[in-house]
Amino acid sequence: MLYPALITEALATVRYPGSGKNLVELGMVEDDIRIAGDNVSFTLIFDKATDPFKASLLKSAEAAIHRAAPEAVVEIKTATRQAAPKVEKAPALPGVKNIIAVSSGKGGVGKSTVAANMAVALAAEGYRVGLLDADIFGPSVPKMFGLENEELYMHEVEGRNLIIPAEKYGVKVLSIGFLIDPASAAVWRGAMASNALKQLIEQADWGELDYFLIDMPPGTSDIHLTLVQTLGITGAVVVTTPQQVALADARKGIAMFRYDKINVPVLGLVDNMAWFTPEKHPDERYFLFGPEGAVDALAAEYGVPVLARIPLVAAVGEHSDNGSPIALENTASALAFVHLAHELIDAVDRRNNELPPTSKVEMR
Ligand code: ADP
Repeated sequence: MLYPALITEALATVRYPGSGKNLVELGMVEDDIRIAGDNVSFTLIFDKATDPFKASLLKSAEAAIHRAAPEAVVEIKTATRQAAPKVEKAPALPGVKNIIAVSSGKGGVGKSTVAANMAVALAAEGYRVGLLDADIFGPSVPKMFGLENEELYMHEVEGRNLIIPAEKYGVKVLSIGFLIDPASAAVWRGAMASNALKQLIEQADWGELDYFLIDMPPGTSDIHLTLVQTLGITGAVVVTTPQQVALADARKGIAMFRYDKINVPVLGLVDNMAWFTPEKHPDERYFLFGPEGAVDALAAEYGVPVLARIPLVAAVGEHSDNGSPIALENTASALAFVHLAHELIDAVDRRNNELPPTSKVEMR
């Protein structure tokens, strides 16, 4: 089956002579890759109309695609950078009401766990929910939803071939892990990962959604930049543990969203692994990772709420590992996530009443 990332991957094997870089890295591949059956078309952008390598690069590009997909019928258009036609693009995700970035400063604090559980808790209440796993450094949503062997299919919507998101527990799910072969993950950094992610947003049939949650990569990266340039993100949820190192990194995460060129409202913090409660002693709380109130202090400093405190409970991790998020259950830890989902709904409503929609970041 042909899909856009396959084409990008093939084009990334073609180098521009003398530059040491490939066509994708050089930004020569327009994001207008169209696929209809075996037909593939896209535009290569050259700096000059008289580029001496134009003919040979077109041949190499076609050959590279045929190596990856022998059945492809390839049509390559060319454009010149100065004269590249300005294509008026429809807004990405026109049917999506709220786009929420679930973010963290540091890896391993439970960002994906929070994103997955919020998604199923919102869907269980009847909201239309999408979850995009954009964590290129360790996509874990497929495992948490038991979708590791998922194959992607496409269908035609108004003349465009679109990826169909997987659907489980009432949530539409796509993961960068569905496109990236873990063995070649290193190669996927940078431009290719950004391209693949844009395809999962712009060339997927997300349809009508109330909440579109994005499980972001930890920290700050060019993936964050791609996302704020592709979408007007309604707000960000920053997940942290009470550990000093996690709090210091959460601070950087908040600062990034607040940076005046990015300007994504921070809806609140999630205090994850706030304390440990042994299964046999549900009334006891042990503050393992930091003093009680450490996350509240950070929240107060930035004038944002703590949306929920989630205890460290073995069952939370076990459910994720088994592919069925704990929020589907009716236990105390599950209720912590249901409570979080309610707080998120309120925070989004407040934000939408107080602030205009977030603009996409325009950069040159
Ligand atoms: P991140 O997305 O921030 O890298 P994950 O969501 O993958 O973090 O969580 C890291 C590990 O911690 C996983 O094994 C997960 O199951 C576990 N975990 C996360 N939150 C909790 C919690 N509240 N209680 C127990 N285990 C948790």
